[in-house]
Amino acid sequence: MRVALFPDTRSVVVLTAPGEHSSPGEHSPRGAALHRLPREEELRDLAISLPPAAWRVSDHRGEQMTGVLLDSAAVEPLLQEGAGTPAGLIPAVISRRTAADTMDILECSQMNRTYHLTAWNGNTRFCGACAAPMEWSTVETAKVCTTCGMVQYPRINPAVIMAVVREGKLLMARAHRHPEGMFSVLAGFVEAGENLELAVSREVHEECGLLLRNITYFSSQPWPFPDSLMIAFTAEHAGGEIVLEESEIAEAGWFGPGEIPPRIPDTYSVARRLIEWFVSEYGTEAQLRKLLTR
Ligand SMILES: [Zn+2]
Repeated sequence: MRVALFPDTRSVVVLTAPGEHSSPGEHSPRGAALHRLPREEELRDLAISLPPAAWRVSDHRGEQMTGVLLDSAAVEPLLQEGAGTPAGLIPAVISRRTAADTMDILECSQMNRTYHLTAWNGNTRFCGACAAPMEWSTVETAKVCTTCGMVQYPRINPAVIMAVVREGKLLMARAHRHPEGMFSVLAGFVEAGENLELAVSREVHEECGLLLRNITYFSSQPWPFPDSLMIAFTAEHAGGEIVLEESEIAEAGWFGPGEIPPRIPDTYSVARRLIEWFVSEYGTEAQLRKLLTR
């Protein structure tokens, strides 16, 4: 049994061996698994006791990992100086995005799934139809109402993200929620009744006033922070000039392959892969190499 402890929506408690943990993400190649999640017995060694209910969050069908949402205060003792398991492993809180860059890909995927199911479990304690308690299904990843029998599956919210190109330049924008200088491609949630292509068109038109053509599927990525699935597209500009939706977008513009801003999304994200795709399609080999070695 492995346990992922989540002190907040963006962090996870992991264990590292001394000497292996320099600067997460900098020197450790992806898949090197220098960080790993604590095991139940290691938590016992650290005198961390968790409520019994926590142990059945995701082990209802024999899954190997249990997730526990903690408040920050509960994490403090774990991180006190001198805390360490007999094996010499050191617990630390790292961001889940950093974990994605430094942990084994399967473990990372399981961690994300665990977080998704843990958060969803906490939000579906009672039936939305009759308000009776829900319990885990014994046959599938779902919860069943103990009174009316309604079945609920883990909620996954689809969101689209898109690389829009005009005459060899990429549309990038900075949302108000992002710090100064941080640019990315546009993205937004799919609305009820929309297909994915319509969601792409609407989002770009709403946020930047542009029309599109050749909307083409690119790739996808689970984004369980807490429960999204990102579906990525490429598209061509078909009309209009940039008109910002000022409540959401602080600035936007067209960037050539040699003009990609210094602050862009993490290597882990599908947003980054769209930017890399753009430079590989429209830039030189040197420009692509420069981006890939950032
Ligand atoms: Zn019910």
